[in-house]
Amino acid sequence: MSYAADVSPRSATTDAPRHDWTREEVRALFDLPFPELMFRAQSVHRQNFDPAEVQISTLLSIKTGGCPEDCAYCPQSARYDTGVRAEKLMALDTVLAEARAAKAAGASRFCMGAAWREPKERDLDTVCAMVAGVKSLGLEACATLGMLTAPQAQRLKEAGLDFYNHNLDTSPEFYGDIITTRTYRDRLETLDRVRDAGIHVCCGGIVGMGETREDRVGMIATLASLPAHPESVPINMLVQVAGTPLAGQSALDGLEFVRTVAAARITMPRSMVRLSAGREDMSEETQALCFLAGANSIFYGPKLLTTPNPGRHRDRELLHKLGLSPME
Ligand code: SF4
Repeated sequence: MSYAADVSPRSATTDAPRHDWTREEVRALFDLPFPELMFRAQSVHRQNFDPAEVQISTLLSIKTGGCPEDCAYCPQSARYDTGVRAEKLMALDTVLAEARAAKAAGASRFCMGAAWREPKERDLDTVCAMVAGVKSLGLEACATLGMLTAPQAQRLKEAGLDFYNHNLDTSPEFYGDIITTRTYRDRLETLDRVRDAGIHVCCGGIVGMGETREDRVGMIATLASLPAHPESVPINMLVQVAGTPLAGQSALDGLEFVRTVAAARITMPRSMVRLSAGREDMSEETQALCFLAGANSIFYGPKLLTTPNPGRHRDRELLHKLGLSPME
């Protein structure tokens, strides 16, 4: 039996990535028998990457809590009582000490996250100094600071920023159930400004928020139809935090998470697909399936902003067991 009619054969070749993915095509990928989906994802992965290499990023919260936005999954929103205290922007020296430690532990990219709707100009001065400092250590620098204006994106580029993270989070249809304080369009506009400034884009989403498969299809189809694919595509499994509106949500089946990773890999063949939040509660077997499905990047270190992540020792053991090594 052949499933070739379901999806354009171009998706499994080294041809230039497509930007015209339809929902029907992405839905057809999600609906494939699991072994067929994995085979396709693995084929695309091998045509574009060394399957034994994983890129290692470290994420530091440089400004925690007190965010005015209402993202229903986020313990840093000031609207939810989650026990996360609002803190000031971290000092430059502290951030650079963390970056040095991340580098010594094997990270090649250092990501800095701030719980802002958008950065204020004076805060951006400090963040630009952080970016320049991280770059001087020989690390790639990434930041996630909320919405950006075009001049702000330009300033970050001039400071040396390599990547900017701004997630679409979910499908356009489900988005309003998760966030009401900024629109999907706002997000797309920030992504355009980042891209126009010449900064690489890191953009993905979260699954397990109570969305349907069709929403997961919509999220992947939207990402894969952007004018340029994000260079990094983080796929997060919701980490449920008490006090947020999404606490108590039924957990998403691990195999459905793997299918989402595989669909991202097939539709965005040259992007780094990052296994992001949610690994702390994920079995080694599910993570291994994600790597087989084409994930080739992880966040490394015991904390992801405010939620737990596997300890470095556990991740080193897992990578060793799977014969995977850090990408230079
Ligand atoms: S996800 Fe970001 S923007 Fe949304 S509430 Fe959390 S810190 Fe604020």
